[in-house]
Amino acid sequence: MGFEFSWLLLALPFAFVLGWLASRLDWRQMRILQRSAPKTYYRGLTYLLNEQQDKAIDVFVQAVQNDPDTIELHFALGNLFRRRGEYDRAIRVHEHLLARADLHPHDRDRAQYDLAQDFMKAGLYDRAETALKKLAGTSLENDGLIALLFIYERAQDWKLATEVTRQMEKNAQGDFSGRRCHYLCEQAVQAREGQQYEQAAQLLEAARKEASSSIRPHIETIELWLRQDRPETAWQAILALETRDTAPAALALVAHHLSTLAQAQGHEHLVQAQAFLQRQYERQPSLDILVALVEVETALQNPQAAQWYLLRQLQAPSLVAAARWMGQTAQLPAIDRPALQQALQRAQEPLMRYRCAACGFETRRYFWQCPGCQSWESYPPQRIEEL
Ligand SMILES: [Zn+2]
Repeated sequence: MGFEFSWLLLALPFAFVLGWLASRLDWRQMRILQRSAPKTYYRGLTYLLNEQQDKAIDVFVQAVQNDPDTIELHFALGNLFRRRGEYDRAIRVHEHLLARADLHPHDRDRAQYDLAQDFMKAGLYDRAETALKKLAGTSLENDGLIALLFIYERAQDWKLATEVTRQMEKNAQGDFSGRRCHYLCEQAVQAREGQQYEQAAQLLEAARKEASSSIRPHIETIELWLRQDRPETAWQAILALETRDTAPAALALVAHHLSTLAQAQGHEHLVQAQAFLQRQYERQPSLDILVALVEVETALQNPQAAQWYLLRQLQAPSLVAAARWMGQTAQLPAIDRPALQQALQRAQEPLMRYRCAACGFETRRYFWQCPGCQSWESYPPQRIEEL
Protein backbone atom coordinates (compact mmCIF):
# COMPACT_ATOMS: atom_id res chain seq x y z
CA MET A 1 0.00 0.00 0.00
CA GLY A 2 2.85 2.35 1.03
CA PHE A 3 4.82 1.52 -2.08
CA GLU A 4 1.89 2.22 -4.38
CA PHE A 5 1.35 5.60 -2.77
CA SER A 6 5.00 6.72 -3.25
CA TRP A 7 4.83 5.55 -6.91
CA LEU A 8 1.84 7.75 -7.43
CA LEU A 9 3.73 10.74 -5.95
CA LEU A 10 6.53 10.18 -8.44
CA ALA A 11 4.18 9.75 -11.40
CA LEU A 12 2.16 12.90 -10.81
CA PRO A 13 4.76 15.44 -11.96
CA PHE A 14 5.36 13.32 -15.11
CA ALA A 15 1.65 13.40 -15.90
CA PHE A 16 1.69 17.14 -15.47
CA VAL A 17 4.61 17.60 -17.84
CA LEU A 18 3.01 15.30 -20.43
CA GLY A 19 -0.32 17.13 -20.18
CA TRP A 20 1.38 20.49 -20.54
CA LEU A 21 3.27 19.30 -23.62
CA ALA A 22 0.14 17.91 -25.17
CA SER A 23 -1.72 21.15 -24.63
CA ARG A 24 1.20 23.11 -26.12
CA LEU A 25 1.12 20.87 -29.17
CA ASP A 26 -2.65 21.30 -29.57
CA TRP A 27 -2.24 25.01 -29.25
CA ARG A 28 0.39 25.14 -31.97
CA GLN A 29 -1.67 22.98 -34.29
CA MET A 30 -4.72 25.11 -33.66
CA ARG A 31 -2.71 28.24 -34.42
CA ILE A 32 -1.50 26.74 -37.71
CA LEU A 33 -5.06 25.77 -38.62
CA GLN A 34 -6.38 29.14 -37.59
CA ARG A 35 -3.78 30.78 -39.73
CA SER A 36 -4.75 28.86 -42.88
CA ALA A 37 -8.08 27.06 -43.19
CA PRO A 38 -10.48 29.08 -41.00
CA LYS A 39 -9.26 32.33 -42.52
CA THR A 40 -10.02 30.94 -45.97
CA TYR A 41 -13.39 29.71 -44.76
CA TYR A 42 -14.28 33.11 -43.41
CA ARG A 43 -13.15 34.85 -46.55
CA GLY A 44 -15.16 32.47 -48.69
CA LEU A 45 -18.13 32.80 -46.39
CA THR A 46 -17.98 36.59 -46.55
CA TYR A 47 -18.04 36.43 -50.34
CA LEU A 48 -20.97 34.03 -50.22
CA LEU A 49 -22.92 36.27 -47.87
CA ASN A 50 -22.24 39.20 -50.19
CA GLU A 51 -23.57 37.10 -53.08
CA GLN A 52 -20.13 37.16 -54.73
CA GLN A 53 -20.12 33.49 -55.61
CA ASP A 54 -17.34 33.76 -58.20
CA LYS A 55 -14.88 35.16 -55.66
CA ALA A 56 -16.00 32.61 -53.06
CA ILE A 57 -15.34 29.79 -55.50
CA ASP A 58 -11.87 31.12 -56.29
CA VAL A 59 -11.02 31.20 -52.59
CA PHE A 60 -12.40 27.71 -51.98
CA VAL A 61 -10.70 26.18 -55.01
CA GLN A 62 -7.40 27.61 -53.82
CA ALA A 63 -7.98 26.30 -50.32
CA VAL A 64 -8.80 22.83 -51.63
CA GLN A 65 -5.61 22.81 -53.71
CA ASN A 66 -3.48 23.90 -50.76
CA ASP A 67 -5.03 21.38 -48.42
CA PRO A 68 -6.64 18.39 -50.15
CA ASP A 69 -7.77 16.98 -46.78
CA THR A 70 -10.57 19.50 -46.41
CA ILE A 71 -13.48 17.18 -47.09
CA GLU A 72 -16.21 19.56 -45.94
CA LEU A 73 -14.84 22.21 -48.24
CA HIS A 74 -15.08 19.78 -51.16
CA PHE A 75 -18.74 19.17 -50.34
CA ALA A 76 -19.44 22.89 -50.05
CA LEU A 77 -17.71 23.56 -53.34
CA GLY A 78 -19.51 20.74 -55.14
CA ASN A 79 -22.90 21.99 -53.97
CA LEU A 80 -22.01 25.52 -54.91
CA PHE A 81 -21.11 24.44 -58.44
CA ARG A 82 -24.35 22.48 -58.76
CA ARG A 83 -26.46 25.38 -57.59
CA ARG A 84 -24.79 27.62 -60.14
CA GLY A 85 -25.61 25.14 -62.89
CA GLU A 86 -21.93 24.20 -63.40
CA TYR A 87 -22.74 20.51 -63.33
CA ASP A 88 -19.53 19.25 -64.95
CA ARG A 89 -17.46 20.97 -62.25
CA ALA A 90 -19.75 19.67 -59.49
CA ILE A 91 -19.45 16.16 -60.91
CA ARG A 92 -15.66 16.44 -60.98
CA VAL A 93 -15.52 17.55 -57.34
CA HIS A 94 -17.74 14.68 -56.17
CA GLU A 95 -15.96 12.09 -58.31
CA HIS A 96 -12.66 13.33 -56.91
CA LEU A 97 -14.03 12.85 -53.39
CA LEU A 98 -15.24 9.33 -54.19
CA ALA A 99 -11.83 8.38 -55.55
CA ARG A 100 -10.21 9.03 -52.19
CA ALA A 101 -9.26 5.94 -50.23
CA ASP A 102 -9.33 7.65 -46.82
CA LEU A 103 -12.96 8.74 -47.02
CA HIS A 104 -15.19 7.88 -44.05
CA PRO A 105 -18.06 5.57 -45.13
CA HIS A 106 -20.68 8.21 -44.29
CA ASP A 107 -18.83 10.83 -46.35
CA ARG A 108 -18.57 8.32 -49.18
CA ASP A 109 -22.38 7.88 -49.14
CA ARG A 110 -22.84 11.64 -49.10
CA ALA A 111 -20.50 12.09 -52.05
CA GLN A 112 -22.31 9.31 -53.91
CA TYR A 113 -25.69 10.94 -53.25
CA ASP A 114 -24.40 14.39 -54.22
CA LEU A 115 -22.94 12.99 -57.42
CA ALA A 116 -26.34 11.50 -58.27
CA GLN A 117 -27.93 14.92 -57.62
CA ASP A 118 -25.42 16.49 -60.05
CA PHE A 119 -26.39 13.97 -62.74
CA MET A 120 -30.09 14.55 -62.10
CA LYS A 121 -29.78 18.31 -62.33
CA ALA A 122 -27.75 17.92 -65.50
CA GLY A 123 -30.54 15.74 -66.94
CA LEU A 124 -28.28 12.67 -67.13
CA TYR A 125 -30.89 10.37 -65.64
CA ASP A 126 -29.27 7.06 -66.60
CA ARG A 127 -26.04 8.02 -64.82
CA ALA A 128 -28.04 9.36 -61.86
CA GLU A 129 -29.86 6.01 -61.69
CA THR A 130 -26.57 4.09 -61.60
CA ALA A 131 -25.19 6.39 -58.89
CA LEU A 132 -28.36 6.10 -56.78
CA LYS A 133 -28.47 2.31 -56.97
CA LYS A 134 -25.06 2.24 -55.29
CA LEU A 135 -26.68 3.74 -52.18
CA ALA A 136 -28.56 0.48 -51.46
CA GLY A 137 -27.69 -0.75 -47.99
CA THR A 138 -26.02 2.53 -46.98
CA SER A 139 -27.08 5.22 -44.51
CA LEU A 140 -28.56 7.24 -47.40
CA GLU A 141 -30.55 4.41 -48.98
CA ASN A 142 -33.89 6.09 -48.24
CA ASP A 143 -32.89 9.39 -49.82
CA GLY A 144 -31.60 7.45 -52.79
CA LEU A 145 -34.93 5.66 -53.19
CA ILE A 146 -36.88 8.93 -53.19
CA ALA A 147 -34.65 10.23 -55.98
CA LEU A 148 -34.94 6.94 -57.90
CA LEU A 149 -38.73 7.13 -57.66
CA PHE A 150 -38.61 10.63 -59.12
CA ILE A 151 -36.53 9.38 -62.06
CA TYR A 152 -38.78 6.39 -62.82
CA GLU A 153 -41.97 8.45 -62.56
CA ARG A 154 -40.47 11.03 -64.88
CA ALA A 155 -39.55 8.33 -67.37
CA GLN A 156 -43.04 6.83 -66.88
CA ASP A 157 -41.42 3.51 -66.08
CA TRP A 158 -44.28 2.42 -63.85
CA LYS A 159 -42.97 -1.09 -63.23
CA LEU A 160 -39.63 0.09 -61.83
CA ALA A 161 -41.43 2.84 -59.88
CA THR A 162 -43.65 0.14 -58.34
CA GLU A 163 -40.58 -1.87 -57.28
CA VAL A 164 -39.09 1.21 -55.61
CA THR A 165 -42.28 1.90 -53.63
CA ARG A 166 -42.25 -1.68 -52.36
CA GLN A 167 -38.67 -1.25 -51.15
CA MET A 168 -39.64 2.08 -49.55
CA GLU A 169 -42.47 0.38 -47.70
CA LYS A 170 -40.04 -2.30 -46.51
CA ASN A 171 -37.87 0.53 -45.16
CA ALA A 172 -40.93 1.98 -43.37
CA GLN A 173 -40.91 5.17 -45.48
CA GLY A 174 -44.70 5.26 -45.62
CA ASP A 175 -47.68 3.79 -47.46
CA PHE A 176 -47.40 3.99 -51.23
CA SER A 177 -50.52 2.07 -52.26
CA GLY A 178 -52.11 5.29 -53.56
CA ARG A 179 -49.15 5.85 -55.86
CA ARG A 180 -49.15 2.27 -57.11
CA CYS A 181 -52.85 2.70 -57.86
CA HIS A 182 -51.94 5.66 -60.08
CA TYR A 183 -49.17 3.65 -61.75
CA LEU A 184 -51.68 0.92 -62.63
CA CYS A 185 -54.12 3.54 -63.91
CA GLU A 186 -51.39 5.13 -66.04
CA GLN A 187 -50.63 1.73 -67.58
CA ALA A 188 -54.35 1.19 -68.13
CA VAL A 189 -54.62 4.51 -69.94
CA GLN A 190 -51.69 3.48 -72.18
CA ALA A 191 -53.38 0.16 -72.90
CA ARG A 192 -56.67 1.93 -73.61
CA GLU A 193 -55.00 4.33 -76.03
CA GLY A 194 -53.46 1.34 -77.77
CA GLN A 195 -56.92 -0.31 -77.93
CA GLN A 196 -55.79 -3.14 -75.62
CA TYR A 197 -59.12 -2.99 -73.81
CA GLU A 198 -58.92 -6.35 -72.07
CA GLN A 199 -55.52 -5.51 -70.63
CA ALA A 200 -56.75 -2.05 -69.60
CA ALA A 201 -59.69 -3.60 -67.72
CA GLN A 202 -57.37 -5.99 -65.87
CA LEU A 203 -55.04 -3.16 -64.85
CA LEU A 204 -57.96 -1.10 -63.57
CA GLU A 205 -59.21 -4.07 -61.59
CA ALA A 206 -55.75 -4.36 -60.00
CA ALA A 207 -55.78 -0.58 -59.32
CA ARG A 208 -59.10 -0.86 -57.48
CA LYS A 209 -57.64 -3.62 -55.31
CA GLU A 210 -54.44 -1.69 -54.66
CA ALA A 211 -56.23 1.36 -53.20
CA SER A 212 -59.90 0.73 -52.59
CA SER A 213 -60.62 4.31 -51.50
CA SER A 214 -59.11 5.88 -54.62
CA ILE A 215 -61.64 7.34 -57.06
CA ARG A 216 -59.37 7.30 -60.10
CA PRO A 217 -59.81 3.63 -61.14
CA HIS A 218 -63.59 4.23 -61.22
CA ILE A 219 -63.22 7.32 -63.39
CA GLU A 220 -60.80 5.55 -65.76
CA THR A 221 -63.15 2.56 -65.97
CA ILE A 222 -65.96 4.87 -67.11
CA GLU A 223 -63.63 6.31 -69.76
CA LEU A 224 -62.75 2.77 -70.86
CA TRP A 225 -66.38 1.73 -71.29
CA LEU A 226 -67.11 4.84 -73.29
CA ARG A 227 -64.14 4.06 -75.52
CA GLN A 228 -65.43 0.50 -75.94
CA ASP A 229 -68.80 1.91 -76.95
CA ARG A 230 -70.66 0.49 -73.98
CA PRO A 231 -72.83 3.51 -73.08
CA GLU A 232 -75.26 1.72 -70.77
CA THR A 233 -72.45 0.24 -68.64
CA ALA A 234 -70.76 3.66 -68.45
CA TRP A 235 -74.10 5.25 -67.55
CA GLN A 236 -74.65 2.85 -64.66
CA ALA A 237 -71.07 3.36 -63.44
CA ILE A 238 -71.51 7.14 -63.31
CA LEU A 239 -74.77 6.83 -61.36
CA ALA A 240 -73.05 4.38 -58.99
CA LEU A 241 -70.43 7.00 -58.11
CA GLU A 242 -73.07 8.72 -55.98
CA THR A 243 -72.62 6.11 -53.26
CA ARG A 244 -68.91 6.81 -52.84
CA ASP A 245 -67.51 9.21 -50.21
CA THR A 246 -65.55 11.25 -52.69
CA ALA A 247 -68.49 11.32 -55.12
CA PRO A 248 -69.35 15.03 -55.49
CA ALA A 249 -65.81 16.09 -56.31
CA ALA A 250 -65.23 13.16 -58.66
CA LEU A 251 -68.57 13.63 -60.39
CA ALA A 252 -67.41 16.98 -61.69
CA LEU A 253 -64.94 15.04 -63.85
CA VAL A 254 -67.60 12.89 -65.54
CA ALA A 255 -70.69 15.15 -65.45
CA HIS A 256 -70.24 16.05 -69.14
CA HIS A 257 -70.29 12.32 -70.01
CA LEU A 258 -73.61 11.91 -68.23
CA SER A 259 -75.07 14.79 -70.20
CA THR A 260 -73.78 13.43 -73.54
CA LEU A 261 -75.02 9.91 -72.76
CA ALA A 262 -78.47 11.14 -71.71
CA GLN A 263 -78.82 13.24 -74.85
CA ALA A 264 -77.90 10.24 -77.00
CA GLN A 265 -80.26 7.85 -75.24
CA GLY A 266 -83.46 9.80 -75.11
CA HIS A 267 -86.14 11.21 -72.85
CA GLU A 268 -86.10 8.67 -70.01
CA HIS A 269 -82.37 9.03 -69.53
CA LEU A 270 -82.64 12.81 -69.70
CA VAL A 271 -85.21 12.88 -66.90
CA GLN A 272 -83.05 10.60 -64.79
CA ALA A 273 -79.92 12.66 -65.49
CA GLN A 274 -81.73 15.90 -64.61
CA ALA A 275 -82.73 14.60 -61.17
CA PHE A 276 -79.30 13.10 -60.57
CA LEU A 277 -77.34 16.22 -61.58
CA GLN A 278 -79.59 18.54 -59.60
CA ARG A 279 -79.06 16.36 -56.52
CA GLN A 280 -75.29 16.40 -57.03
CA TYR A 281 -75.25 20.13 -57.62
CA GLU A 282 -77.00 20.66 -54.31
CA ARG A 283 -74.32 18.55 -52.61
CA GLN A 284 -71.47 20.31 -54.40
CA PRO A 285 -72.11 23.49 -56.45
CA SER A 286 -69.54 22.54 -59.09
CA LEU A 287 -69.39 24.48 -62.37
CA ASP A 288 -69.00 21.26 -64.37
CA ILE A 289 -72.10 19.75 -62.81
CA LEU A 290 -73.96 23.03 -63.40
CA VAL A 291 -73.03 23.11 -67.10
CA ALA A 292 -74.12 19.47 -67.52
CA LEU A 293 -77.38 20.19 -65.71
CA VAL A 294 -78.24 23.10 -68.01
CA GLU A 295 -77.35 20.99 -71.06
CA VAL A 296 -79.73 18.26 -69.91
CA GLU A 297 -82.53 20.73 -69.10
CA THR A 298 -82.05 22.38 -72.49
CA ALA A 299 -82.33 18.96 -74.15
CA LEU A 300 -85.55 18.47 -72.18
CA GLN A 301 -86.70 21.73 -73.79
CA ASN A 302 -87.13 23.49 -70.49
CA PRO A 303 -87.36 27.20 -71.47
CA GLN A 304 -86.01 28.13 -68.02
CA ALA A 305 -82.87 25.96 -68.35
CA ALA A 306 -80.46 28.90 -68.44
CA GLN A 307 -81.98 30.29 -65.25
CA TRP A 308 -79.63 27.93 -63.40
CA TYR A 309 -76.80 30.23 -64.47
CA LEU A 310 -78.58 33.25 -63.02
CA LEU A 311 -79.30 31.39 -59.82
CA ARG A 312 -75.59 30.68 -59.62
CA GLN A 313 -74.87 34.43 -59.55
CA LEU A 314 -76.88 34.70 -56.34
CA GLN A 315 -74.90 31.90 -54.67
CA ALA A 316 -71.43 32.75 -55.97
CA PRO A 317 -70.93 35.30 -58.75
CA SER A 318 -69.39 33.53 -61.71
CA LEU A 319 -68.09 34.95 -64.96
CA VAL A 320 -68.19 31.47 -66.50
CA ALA A 321 -71.89 31.10 -65.65
CA ALA A 322 -72.61 34.66 -66.83
CA ALA A 323 -70.95 34.00 -70.19
CA ARG A 324 -72.87 30.75 -70.63
CA TRP A 325 -76.15 32.37 -69.63
CA MET A 326 -75.61 35.03 -72.25
CA GLY A 327 -74.80 32.42 -74.85
CA GLN A 328 -78.09 30.70 -74.19
CA THR A 329 -80.67 33.46 -73.74
CA ALA A 330 -82.03 35.68 -76.44
CA GLN A 331 -82.95 38.64 -74.29
CA LEU A 332 -80.24 40.94 -75.62
CA PRO A 333 -80.56 42.90 -78.85
CA ALA A 334 -79.11 40.63 -81.51
CA ILE A 335 -76.63 43.28 -82.63
CA ASP A 336 -74.83 43.46 -79.26
CA ARG A 337 -74.61 39.75 -78.67
CA PRO A 338 -71.57 38.60 -80.69
CA ALA A 339 -69.18 41.28 -79.39
CA LEU A 340 -70.27 40.94 -75.78
CA GLN A 341 -70.29 37.20 -75.98
CA GLN A 342 -66.81 37.12 -77.44
CA ALA A 343 -65.47 39.41 -74.73
CA LEU A 344 -67.03 37.34 -71.99
CA GLN A 345 -65.88 34.13 -73.60
CA ARG A 346 -62.29 35.35 -73.69
CA ALA A 347 -62.46 36.60 -70.09
CA GLN A 348 -63.81 33.33 -68.73
CA GLU A 349 -61.43 30.99 -70.55
CA PRO A 350 -58.56 31.21 -68.01
CA LEU A 351 -61.11 30.72 -65.23
CA MET A 352 -62.10 27.35 -66.66
CA ARG A 353 -58.58 25.96 -66.20
CA TYR A 354 -57.44 23.61 -63.47
CA ARG A 355 -54.65 24.71 -61.15
CA CYS A 356 -52.06 22.57 -59.32
CA ALA A 357 -52.29 23.15 -55.58
CA ALA A 358 -48.60 22.30 -55.18
CA CYS A 359 -46.95 24.51 -57.83
CA GLY A 360 -49.72 26.64 -59.36
CA PHE A 361 -49.32 25.19 -62.87
CA GLU A 362 -52.52 25.77 -64.87
CA THR A 363 -53.92 23.39 -67.47
CA ARG A 364 -56.99 23.14 -69.68
CA ARG A 365 -57.58 19.48 -69.02
CA TYR A 366 -57.54 17.57 -65.77
CA PHE A 367 -54.30 15.82 -64.80
CA TRP A 368 -53.87 13.18 -62.11
CA GLN A 369 -50.15 13.96 -62.04
CA CYS A 370 -49.00 17.55 -62.46
CA PRO A 371 -46.91 18.02 -65.63
CA GLY A 372 -45.22 20.92 -63.84
CA CYS A 373 -44.08 19.47 -60.52
CA GLN A 374 -44.95 15.75 -60.85
CA SER A 375 -47.18 15.79 -57.72
CA TRP A 376 -50.01 13.24 -57.71
CA GLU A 377 -53.62 14.36 -57.28
CA SER A 378 -52.50 17.95 -56.73
CA TYR A 379 -55.27 19.28 -58.98
CA PRO A 380 -58.57 19.86 -57.20
CA PRO A 381 -61.36 18.75 -59.57
CA GLN A 382 -62.69 22.31 -59.58
CA ARG A 383 -62.08 25.09 -62.05
CA ILE A 384 -59.97 28.07 -61.08
CA GLU A 385 -63.04 30.25 -60.71
CA GLU A 386 -64.40 27.93 -58.04
CA LEU A 387 -61.23 27.87 -55.96
ZN1 LIG B 1 -47.73 21.10 -59.86
